[in-house]
Amino acid sequence: MDFAHYIGGEWVGDSDVTTNTSPANRDDVIGTYARGDAARVDQAVSAALAAQPDWASASPQLRHDVLERAGALIVERKDELGRLLAREEGKTIAEAVGETVRASQVFKFFAGEALRNTGDAVASVRPGIDVMIEREAVGVIGLITPWNFPIAIPAWKLAPALAYGNAVVMKPAELTPGCAWELAKILDEAGCPAGIFNLVMGPGSKVGARIVEHEDIAAVSFTGSVATGRQVAVDCAARGKKVQLEMGGKNPMVVVDDADLDVAVGASLNGAFFSTGQRCTASSRLIVTAGIHDAFLDKLTAAAADLVIGDPLDAKTQIGPVVDQGQLDQNLEYLALAATEGCDVRGGGLGNGNGFFMHPAIFAGASNQMRVSREEIFGPMASVIKVADYDEALAVANDTEFGLSSGICTTSLKIATDFRRNAKAGMVMVNLPTAGVDYHVPFGGRKGSSYGPREQGSYAREFYTTVKTSYIAP
Ligand code: ADP
Repeated sequence: MDFAHYIGGEWVGDSDVTTNTSPANRDDVIGTYARGDAARVDQAVSAALAAQPDWASASPQLRHDVLERAGALIVERKDELGRLLAREEGKTIAEAVGETVRASQVFKFFAGEALRNTGDAVASVRPGIDVMIEREAVGVIGLITPWNFPIAIPAWKLAPALAYGNAVVMKPAELTPGCAWELAKILDEAGCPAGIFNLVMGPGSKVGARIVEHEDIAAVSFTGSVATGRQVAVDCAARGKKVQLEMGGKNPMVVVDDADLDVAVGASLNGAFFSTGQRCTASSRLIVTAGIHDAFLDKLTAAAADLVIGDPLDAKTQIGPVVDQGQLDQNLEYLALAATEGCDVRGGGLGNGNGFFMHPAIFAGASNQMRVSREEIFGPMASVIKVADYDEALAVANDTEFGLSSGICTTSLKIATDFRRNAKAGMVMVNLPTAGVDYHVPFGGRKGSSYGPREQGSYAREFYTTVKTSYIAP
């Protein structure tokens, strides 16, 4: 089946297409998806510009109702959408259905937020004058999304953008256009007015780049790699655009001597390997104090070896394939590098089947200075770094160019509190995996991980609105 762009409320095809295949089975063709270019972006921006003022000035009830209906349609179709997600991205069916439900929750949350866009009224320092502070829509917003959460990330950018009265031009990752296309169909069914949501699929170098440079796109929200994100930020700044970036992580999970061993192994196993390690919040540095190190390493190695790798649509599977050949090749290079750098590499072999399967790998005996401990790998691999005590663990945890999520396993309130206060990260997890977040609270990081205002929850309003201060002398 051919899937078209969605522009100005119409389905618009292109002669150029991308064939979307499953990473679990290269013969499983999901469909062919239109592959746009700069001209398609221009067409979408024109539609968005024309539609946005009426959407912003309409009753918030309209925006609420569209978002609420979209949320309801997503959850109604969660099994079918979850199946599509598992097929095109490769995460397990349980993770995929969970992500789909999350997308629905995000739409419903922002349906409510559309009605809660409150402002402030204050007395002026000048007698008799009133001052009002209100939040208005930004205008047309460009959304550039990655492949690893192909329904949740579009949802958490799209829902707040629409809730606050913006129009959107969205470009999904080339590897996962399917979920984004379904979102377009759902918004159409939910009664989103023509031109308010536009989907243009295609390569980052053409479609993404045009979104960033188009003078009528007032703001860009991007999730993806550090290299692309930094370029997007520079290009947006040069044009005076608002920009928000979510990029990589090299997230630490600290395990101290007093940790509950089962909790520590469970949280590390989940954080490092689930979703095939393809999460920016994955735990890729397991920093373990000397007293518990050997027991932790033995138990983690055994648990990782027991993980079931295979078909994401099989309910027994715990780890699906890597997303594509390029990512698999890169993972294998890091696996070889870990050995060259002197790690004791445990696991990591290729899996069976007609897909990009690999076993999780543990890099025992790693140091924090090795490249495998400093560069984001984005695969099912984690360094295990032995340290003397909690103080060294905290220093090593913070010694990274990233700062998204930081975890600790401990039964000591004193240590947990100290870590929460001193971890240089946007999110801290105590006795929980570094990955796995709620949808009604801010998501984002520090240093090289994020740039600009936070995403999700009511904090999303900062990016998707602009402030107006009015002075009124009656
Ligand atoms: P990943 O490694 O996760 O694919 P990328 O940063 O390459 O990370 O991709 C994230 C998103 O950014 C994708 O939708 C991709 O198509 C898009 N993208 C890639 N290059 C550019 C670019 N030069 N300008 C804008 N968007 C881009």
